[in-house]
Amino acid sequence: MAQARVRTAGRRSRPRPVESSSPAIVFDRVGVSYGRGRKASRALIDFSLRVAAGETVALLGPSGSGKSTALNALAGFVRPTSGTVRLAGRDVTSLPPARRGIGVVLQSYALFPHMSVADNVAFGLRAQKIARRDITPRVAEALDMVGMADYQKRLPRELSGGQQQRVAIARALAIRPAVLLLDEPLAALDAQLRQSMLAELQRLKEALPDTAMLFVTHDQAEALALADRIAIMNDARLMDVDTAENLWKRPPTSFTAAFLGGANLLPCVVGRVIGNSALVDVGTRTVTAEAPQPGFGHADWAPGSAALLCVRPHAVQVVSTRERNALQAKVNAAVWRGSVTRLVVTVDSVPDVLVDVDVPGHTPFEIGSPVGLRLPEPAGVLVPAT
Ligand code: ADP
Repeated sequence: MAQARVRTAGRRSRPRPVESSSPAIVFDRVGVSYGRGRKASRALIDFSLRVAAGETVALLGPSGSGKSTALNALAGFVRPTSGTVRLAGRDVTSLPPARRGIGVVLQSYALFPHMSVADNVAFGLRAQKIARRDITPRVAEALDMVGMADYQKRLPRELSGGQQQRVAIARALAIRPAVLLLDEPLAALDAQLRQSMLAELQRLKEALPDTAMLFVTHDQAEALALADRIAIMNDARLMDVDTAENLWKRPPTSFTAAFLGGANLLPCVVGRVIGNSALVDVGTRTVTAEAPQPGFGHADWAPGSAALLCVRPHAVQVVSTRERNALQAKVNAAVWRGSVTRLVVTVDSVPDVLVDVDVPGHTPFEIGSPVGLRLPEPAGVLVPAT
């Protein structure tokens, strides 16, 4: 069956929200602990983030890093232990979820199994005491947006996983929220469906230019595809927040460098720095590196200080061991991944780190064989060592 498309029609009549100078979403030093006393565990620590109207921000991080807790604190499903959450300038920290006017889409869809699609979508409208005559057109409008207008009478069990997720999105949209929260919206779908739903969400974002979206994912591809900015979480804390491009090109922390795109981080010593360029010693070689300007979360690269050289696996070339200036390395593992062969190598002069190298195509390598590595020019970007 051809995938239904998210429709943009029907949204044009929606009144634009009143312009407000306050961000749509503000987390102000929010802390959340689960449990009490000695058994309390801190799931969110000093979390501050602002999302503008019309902006899409991804909360990206490993499992257990506090992403859903942040989302739930905003939705009102968990009560912050400290700090405040504000929506369009209004402190909603103590407000019950239903009175926050937020659209929420969960990984598990959470549709009511005994209710038809139409009744599921109407649920939030009834809770808001919207007049009965207005409910039918609004349900139709929301279902139309996600291409599910023809499924109003079905029960959730009569729908595929992707269709159920669309209904869950329609239910969230029906209340015309200024803020839409999505918690791992694609995680329960199979890989192919995930791709088409990702495209649907991109279209939805275009169709809702005034809606602030905050979505939780552990999948960097989803974050890169959808988010205007990415907030990287680790261990209950916000590590970095910026556009995907900035985080990718100039990671402020080693965690972000490694998490976003699996960069290699080679220990190095900073030498001469001129403007944005530094000479650094890596093992037995001196190479040039991009040195991001201090002030954007980046260090002041003092000559003689230790740093990390962030080099992406696809940027390293495997060459003959006899090539001048090649780093001498040994192959630890070689795995064919389709378009590339991923090598894991140890560099003789930097023995403590394993380095990932992507070689185009299906290239066989013998484990233990020596290879030369050629770094690009500049070799990579500097990342603070701590
Ligand atoms: P993520 O969404 O990044 O996977 P969560 O916000 O779900 O992370 O969880 C953060 C931490 O809080 C984890 O250690 C998790 O086990 C814990 N946690 C989450 N929900 C609860 C809960 N209801 N009770 C106790 N601990 C919880």
